[in-house]
Amino acid sequence: MIRQAVIMAGGLGSRLKEKTASMPKGFVEIGGVPIVQQSIKKLIAAGVEEIIIGTGHCAGWFERLGGGVRLAHNARYAETGSMGTLACCAPFVKGDFLLLESDLIYDAAGLRVLINERRKNVVLASGPTNSGDEVYLEADADGFLLRQSKNRAEIRSLAGELAGVSRLTVAALGAMVSYWNARMVDTPKMEYEAALVAVSSDAENRTPVFVRKIERYLWREIDCEAHLEAARESVYPRIQEAESLLSIRRETLLNPGPATTTDSVKYAQVCADICPREAEFGDVMEWISTELSLFAGGGGVETALFGGSGTAADEAMLSSCVPEDGKLLIIDNGAYGERFAKIASAYRLNFDVYKSSGFMPLDTDRVKQTLLDGMYTHFAIVYHETTTGLLNPAPELCRFCHEHGVTTIVDAVSAFAAIPIDMDRDCFDFMASTSNKNIQGMAGVAFVFCRKEALEKLKAYPMRSYYLNLWDQYAYFKKTRQMRFTPPVQTLYALRQAIIEARLETIAGRYARYSACWEILVHAIKRLNLNMLVPEEAQSRLITAIIEPDSPKYRFDDLHDLAREAGFTIYPGKLSDAATFRIANIGDIRPEEMSRFAMLLEQYIKTL
Ligand SMILES: *Cc1c(COP(=O)(O)O)cnc(C)c1O
Repeated sequence: MIRQAVIMAGGLGSRLKEKTASMPKGFVEIGGVPIVQQSIKKLIAAGVEEIIIGTGHCAGWFERLGGGVRLAHNARYAETGSMGTLACCAPFVKGDFLLLESDLIYDAAGLRVLINERRKNVVLASGPTNSGDEVYLEADADGFLLRQSKNRAEIRSLAGELAGVSRLTVAALGAMVSYWNARMVDTPKMEYEAALVAVSSDAENRTPVFVRKIERYLWREIDCEAHLEAARESVYPRIQEAESLLSIRRETLLNPGPATTTDSVKYAQVCADICPREAEFGDVMEWISTELSLFAGGGGVETALFGGSGTAADEAMLSSCVPEDGKLLIIDNGAYGERFAKIASAYRLNFDVYKSSGFMPLDTDRVKQTLLDGMYTHFAIVYHETTTGLLNPAPELCRFCHEHGVTTIVDAVSAFAAIPIDMDRDCFDFMASTSNKNIQGMAGVAFVFCRKEALEKLKAYPMRSYYLNLWDQYAYFKKTRQMRFTPPVQTLYALRQAIIEARLETIAGRYARYSACWEILVHAIKRLNLNMLVPEEAQSRLITAIIEPDSPKYRFDDLHDLAREAGFTIYPGKLSDAATFRIANIGDIRPEEMSRFAMLLEQYIKTL
């Protein structure tokens, strides 16, 4: 697993003259986007969590790059060459990493090749580029780097041209930095290629670096106007085409989960087979669990993972969190509250159901009174009733519960990762969610978030379910960093990528994007004289239940088929007492897509 990348961006770029007099080379634009930004996007899509940029010339420019980026400044950039910049980044590198130059354009396939390599230290090389600025590489009989030169005549047998994208270990990096440190006084100006060759060819203590040649690899370093011209005219369009061939047909899911995923999340599932009992996979799961906890407020939150859909998380909570002598009150104002009650009944818990309208806001005073009157010890509520889009006042009620010593159990399956949640602030003791809704991963992983102090009590509770026992799953994971039973391996890799992307967008940013889509939908609904089931102010802004048009010609299937033809999937209503259809606006969807859907809706409504 490669989690970090280093981009060396300290150079003056003096051969690009006025373009880079007051701007770093990486900010040269091709296709309207700075090339370093394109590189960052490719690295993140390849599963890199953190990109360390070694800055120098015009360092301030890099501060605008935002999420996922850490800057390391090389104050002596003018005299040290790229090796000095790399040395400034070295303290932040924690494991195997990708190393790139900032003034490159390249086919992202090269990143996949490096990540997929069995060898730990690898440089990418290509066949002839005729760029006029080639760094020629020579390798030994086994393909390991021996020599580099800009002068072709100095190379005996040519292994390829250095493409400026590599993968290295911390040990190799350390050896390169030591090599430079030992010579810094005499040779402060050293390029990283020189140090790389030195450690790979060192007769006594060799760290061999493999030269992985891709004959027709698409890449170009932008060092001068001629390079920029060639990149714009020829290399960049070819890279665009090669990468576009890998894009997956877009299906915009406006159903309430599974939600639309990015291509990078889809591709994260395509990776080498691994036995999930390997420590390397334990690292992945532990990272996922920790990062999910941070989305739920961090601090004292622990996250247990199960293979299963969201209902598995609901069932793990209910079957594990109520003691023998506990008494549970369940709020039922939709299909998921009703499901809570069905689960409680299957496990023969001591519980009552508080039934309320599926579309009018809960009467919180009455709920509070019921809680006190019934001497309940546990309270279960669905934060966002996906049935109708009704957002329940879960934080208010759970806060009241905590004031009265009542343990709280929250189904936040369709709220988590969109509506900002802090379990401590909101007084949620246990909370369920899943990989395929707002976190934008694949279906198959259920999460139960637990406040540590509430979790500890479960030890003593009866084991009603074997597979879904929350305490056992948590305790086993803490001890072994493994799930008790076979985890959905590839789904977890996709979840890791989804978390990386959610972290960059931030939960607040994600909710803002979802809300923007919702506003477009609501605007269209009003324009078409349609009605919504739930009063606007009580809606989650994540899914909208629309009352079916009052026309004998209306058929949900006709609307569904029209939308599906155009790449949108919609979902029928779920309430038995109201004829509705539902439009969700969660997942990797853009406002412009919602606008296109609104036009389709209008087209259909006009036929009625
Ligand atoms: C989606 C959802 C679930 C889980 O449904 P699954 O089909 O098991 O994934 C549970 N609760 C709510 C509120 C949901 O929206």
